[in-house]
Amino acid sequence: MSLVVIGSVAYDAIETPYGKRERTLGGSCTYIALSASYFSPTSIVAVVGEDFAAEDRALLASKGVGLEGLEQVPGKTFFWSGVYSADMNDRTTLQTDLNVFADFQPKLPVAYASLPYLLLGNIQPALQRQVHQQMPGASFVGGDTMNLWINHNREELIETIRHWDFLLINDGEARLLVRENNLRKAAQKILELGPKTLIIKRGEYGAMLFREDSLFLLPGYLLEDVFDPTGAGDCFAGGFSGYLAEQGFDPRKSDFNVKELHRAVIYGSVMGSFCCEEFGVERFHTLSRKEIDQRFEEFRRFTAF
Ligand code: AMP
Repeated sequence: MSLVVIGSVAYDAIETPYGKRERTLGGSCTYIALSASYFSPTSIVAVVGEDFAAEDRALLASKGVGLEGLEQVPGKTFFWSGVYSADMNDRTTLQTDLNVFADFQPKLPVAYASLPYLLLGNIQPALQRQVHQQMPGASFVGGDTMNLWINHNREELIETIRHWDFLLINDGEARLLVRENNLRKAAQKILELGPKTLIIKRGEYGAMLFREDSLFLLPGYLLEDVFDPTGAGDCFAGGFSGYLAEQGFDPRKSDFNVKELHRAVIYGSVMGSFCCEEFGVERFHTLSRKEIDQRFEEFRRFTAF
């Protein structure tokens, strides 16, 4: 089943203790789509400027990502730069230039309107909402956000996620969103905002899935080398929703299997872990579905008792 993704397609400047890149392909939409493309047909809705390189478009196309909804307009592509702490658990944003995203009015290709799965990657909540409104029939809709929007567009964000089936968010942002330091209480408050499924990501410590009637906890995959965590959260989102789209998951059916959501969290973690192994999107040049499934099985062995 097909998945539609909106979010940023960007150029990033990244500095980690292992090195630096001055300008590398990034953006929430890019990471999500690359990750999800291993599981299900994936199409993107985003905008880039005149500076967007043919080789970057080619990478997305080589994974079969649908680019009909990728607009190219005069101006510069979204730019983000960040620097990581020595243990890479903290990141400071140095610069965010929305550039062509500032005036973006997403218009979905007609064929996308009837697709069932929609992932609203991190971008202005108003844009997330505009895209959602163009897919009223989608059966599984959710997305991601970040502290920038929680701090500056809080009301708009809350109104946006009210209509989502699932929300992906990291632990610090979950606390910030509902102004509650205890994570269990914060999760409960977020579920009351609308989404029936909440996934709280905890970086190298793993992820948690909350629903009204169930809780699933997964440790992080212990990588030997982490070069660059940029995009790991988005790759998680891509693995999570791509896997569910592959399975034809429909939470509106009364007999849906919650274990599919748990497996999706594992695939999300697997994809986030691969993303960290190289800078930017570089790991996607070589990554295969076989490696993904092997790591999924490793997770099963590590956590079974
Ligand atoms: P992650 O590490 O999963 O949070 O994702 C990092 C990616 O998000 C980078 O490639 C950035 O280009 C992109 N990004 C950073 N800030 C924003 C923002 N405010 N809106 C949209 N995308 C962003």
